Amino acid sequence: MNPSTIQDSKIKLKQKILKLKRDAGSHSPSIFTFKQKLPELKIKVDACFLSNPYATDLFLDYFNNEILSTGKIRDLLEFYPSQNDVIAETLEHLLGITKDHIFIGNGAIEIIQAIIHDIKGGKVVIPIPTFSSYYEFVHQNVETVFYKLNKDKDYILDVEDYIHFIKKEKPTAAVLINPNNPNGAFLTVAEITHILDELTELNTVILDESFIHFAYENENFEPVTVSKFIDNYKNLVIVKSMSKDFGIAGLRAGYGVMHPDRVKKLLSNGFLWNSNGLAEYFFNLYTRADFLEDYEKVRIRYIKETQSFIDDLREIKDLRVYPSKANFVLLELPPHYDSDDFVAEMLVEYGIYLRTGSDKIGLEGQFIRLASRTKQENNYILDSFKNYFQCRNDK
Ligand SMILES: *Cc1c(COP(=O)(O)O)cnc(C)c1O
Repeated sequence: MNPSTIQDSKIKLKQKILKLKRDAGSHSPSIFTFKQKLPELKIKVDACFLSNPYATDLFLDYFNNEILSTGKIRDLLEFYPSQNDVIAETLEHLLGITKDHIFIGNGAIEIIQAIIHDIKGGKVVIPIPTFSSYYEFVHQNVETVFYKLNKDKDYILDVEDYIHFIKKEKPTAAVLINPNNPNGAFLTVAEITHILDELTELNTVILDESFIHFAYENENFEPVTVSKFIDNYKNLVIVKSMSKDFGIAGLRAGYGVMHPDRVKKLLSNGFLWNSNGLAEYFFNLYTRADFLEDYEKVRIRYIKETQSFIDDLREIKDLRVYPSKANFVLLELPPHYDSDDFVAEMLVEYGIYLRTGSDKIGLEGQFIRLASRTKQENNYILDSFKNYFQCRNDK
């Protein structure tokens, strides 16, 4: 093909990508959708989906050895999985709480849906930018009040200002994601418990810890969570997805930690076999010492690589890099850029799939969210970004 034909086909491809994104609404088209609808597109790195690739490898090792090569896969497919209370029991010891506090879900999204739908009136306060399902699932009769995170403070939640806001608004429920999605800003356990101490008047406080395995407060990267304080807060609901930190979104595994009365109430709405054999196998692994020892290694390796990736991104002067203790980072493009165009161009030119920030309410400017992948992929992303800005700046 001559250069202008190549250019033409790239422009057409870019148009098709922009259309697919528009059709997908508030979640990005998955890599499967691209493969199906745009087979001509070569995706090299999926930096949109937020998972630890080393953890997926680890899970697959165990899965191949214990389930596939032994033929046990048949049992997992042929029989019903256990019910909520049996799977909850396997998690008791690991989480340091009794099983009556644990609600198992078909991914965290099911827990979010169950809790949010259970709020029937009043107000819910949601900081923005956020994970869109939180406000999309809110019942018609419930008022959604957004608490705008401040760009001048790097979208990091200002604890005292937030508490003041809640006391003024007097909502029934509040949502916090820690570290937050899409920006990765992190609040320490001390800050979160301080907030919880001030929010005891609320009926429900949802704390989404789906990215907590990537956060740390000391140099040993010891895991942080507030699950163990659940008995101090009757209104607290902790939401935990397994999709990102274990790299198993297709498996659909998540859990919630909350007061036993709330678990009972949710179960009475009818969640009988809302798990599956593969997820149950995963939950068993999750509590096993041998698996956890291996997981701890891939978790820490990935955190270190992610933080060094974020440091390297700071050297690209065309990008503003926001602080993150998650496995992704929020990047702001110079004002004359358009984030949707940038995402489409990265996909067409370099095969890198990024998350646009253009549909995220609460972001002011041109943003993209970039996930950390393997070290090799991260290096490829860095080189591609440098190349991209160099070409643009040379024009
Ligand atoms: C991805 C995500 C979820 C949903 O996770 P699943 O377990 O895959 O349903 C929930 N909360 C946040 C903040 C997320 O980013």
